[in-house]
Amino acid sequence: MKSFKTKIVLSATLALLMSFVFTINSFAANWPVLRQGARGHEVTAMQILLNWRGHSPGGTDGIFGPRTDAAVRNFQRSRRLTVDGAAGPNTLSNLVGTVRQGDRNEAVRAAQFLLRNKFGMNIAVDGVFGPQTRDATLAFQRAHGLSADGVIGPNTWRTLFGARARSIPMPQAQTPQPQTTQRNGTMVRYDRNNPNQLLIRSNGQTTPYFRVREVMCGPGNPNSSCNRSSCPRFFYIDSRLVDVLHATRGRVGPLIVTGPLRCTAHASTFSSGTGSFHARGLAVDVRSGNGSATLERIYDAAIASGAVGGATRHFTPRNDTYISRSGNFVHVAVRP
Ligand SMILES: [Zn+2]
Repeated sequence: MKSFKTKIVLSATLALLMSFVFTINSFAANWPVLRQGARGHEVTAMQILLNWRGHSPGGTDGIFGPRTDAAVRNFQRSRRLTVDGAAGPNTLSNLVGTVRQGDRNEAVRAAQFLLRNKFGMNIAVDGVFGPQTRDATLAFQRAHGLSADGVIGPNTWRTLFGARARSIPMPQAQTPQPQTTQRNGTMVRYDRNNPNQLLIRSNGQTTPYFRVREVMCGPGNPNSSCNRSSCPRFFYIDSRLVDVLHATRGRVGPLIVTGPLRCTAHASTFSSGTGSFHARGLAVDVRSGNGSATLERIYDAAIASGAVGGATRHFTPRNDTYISRSGNFVHVAVRP
């Protein structure tokens, strides 16, 4: 009798579970298959992602023409996927990358583009994953039965690409917008194709000391250990970080950036991973460029710099900059 009751309970539980699974499945969306001749928002998002991965499709016009076809094939070749020019589940899932609040890159821009243009959400398409993009992501995830964590990972990407277009209302602002003060620097976008471009400080002026090639990830920067052709063309650096580097350089002379910004693929080879400040444009490592300054002096100069405003081992409410010595370099970071 007991086992009969258990069986009833078990089958009821199973039925409940199955209906739950069925409910989830009813929201599930599959990756589309995009190939030459296709048009639409998914094609635009794919073109932005191809740019991000370093394979330019020539433009982001939503039209899958010959140049987009060549870019897809190049990407497929670089990932050892079947080279057929058709962007389906394998290609698209390799093309996307997980993005979350604090990230600034072209993958964020691609997701924002779909949220705005395919799902009618009133958000900026600026490549900066702020509170507004997070709120839109949460609403999108809830509307599609996804686990609502505000992070755009594989399932959310698949649904962004695969779900049918419809209008999803923006929620009332749930996350307060951060106060913008002079102390909060802005993320500045840089182009790897312009390696001699000067870095811009938070006052809007360039620094004569540092250029794009010194901080970018990948080939062209002798201080970067990343050799990937997939390094993104565009990357972002916090102008407060540039302020600190500039002021420190003014005190101790030439500096070499030994730990430049990292692309997603490169960052994942470090234990700190893609959450690393180096992957988010918030930190670099430096040492003396001509051996004239000891690490001790660089450290002290960074602390003494007005832009730093005093440094401690950790961020404090009054302190946006974090400096540490490690091995043969000084690590400089700014608050996210
Ligand atoms: Zn890289």
